[in-house]
Amino acid sequence: MDFSLTSIALLYCCVLILCLPAFAAEITPNSSKIQGQNSNSGMGQFESERRQMVEYQIRHRGIKDERVLAAMYQVPRHQFVDSPWKDFAYSDRPLPIGHQQTISQPYIVAYMSETAEISTDAKVLEIGTGCGYQAAILGELAKQVYSIEIIPELAERARQTLAQLGYENIEVKTGDGYQGWAEHAPYDAIIVTAAPEKIPQPLIDQLATNGKLVIPVGTWYQDIIVLTKTEDRIIKEKTIPVRFVPMRRKLLQW
Ligand code: SAH
Repeated sequence: MDFSLTSIALLYCCVLILCLPAFAAEITPNSSKIQGQNSNSGMGQFESERRQMVEYQIRHRGIKDERVLAAMYQVPRHQFVDSPWKDFAYSDRPLPIGHQQTISQPYIVAYMSETAEISTDAKVLEIGTGCGYQAAILGELAKQVYSIEIIPELAERARQTLAQLGYENIEVKTGDGYQGWAEHAPYDAIIVTAAPEKIPQPLIDQLATNGKLVIPVGTWYQDIIVLTKTEDRIIKEKTIPVRFVPMRRKLLQW
C-alpha cells in the first residue's frame, strides 16, 4: 500500500482528536467531597497545570488507582500555599508552608494515598496536617478524616482553608500526633507526614485489623514503611526512600 506523508499525518490527527475526550474524561471525577463546588474552590484556575501534574508526575510514574488520580486532579493545590508559591503549586517539588515546614511533592502525596488503600467508607487518621493538602486528598477518598498538627498556627490555617473549600468530612486538631487520636480509633488507614525515628506504638495500636499505616521512618535518611495489621501479626515493608521533616514532640516550644 502506498501511504503519502499527508495521509499519514491526517490519520494521526484523527486518532488524536478521537482520543482527547476520553483522556479528559478519565481524570475528571464527578463526585468531589467539596461542598458547593465552583463557588470558592477556584477549580477553573490552574486546571491545565493540574491535569499535567496528574498525567506526567503521577500517572507516568506508576500510580494506577483512578480514585487517587481523580482526587489529585480535584483538589486545588494552589489554594493551600501562600501567594508567592501559587505559580509553583503544580511543579514537581515540595513547597514551603511557613514555620519551616513543607508540603510534600505531589507524587509522594499520591504514592502514600494509593499505598494506604483507602476505601470510600474508610476512617483515616493523618499525622502532620501542615497546610491541609494531604488531608483534602484523603477527604476526597475516605468517608471521614481526622488530622493532627503540632503547630497551632498551621492547624488553624488548615482548618480555615479546608472550610473555605467546603470539606465537611475532615476534622483537624492541634496536638502531638505521636500519641494518635484514641477517641476515634480504630482507623482503616493512618498516614504520617512527619518522620519519627521509629514507628510510634500508639499508632499501631489504633490501626484497625487489615488496616495500613504508611509512615516515613528514620533521621536524615528515611524510608516509607508500610505496616499492615492482620488478625495475628504485623507485617512491615520498606518501600521508597524519602525526605520528610522530623516528627516533633510536644515538649518542643514554638
Ligand atoms: N501533610 C502536610 C505536610 C506535612 S509537613 C501537608 O499536606 O501540607 C509535616 C507536618 O507535620 C508539619 O506541619 C509539622 O508541624 C507536623 N508535625 C511534626 N511533628 C508532629 C507531631 N508530633 N504531631 C503532629 N504534627 C507534627
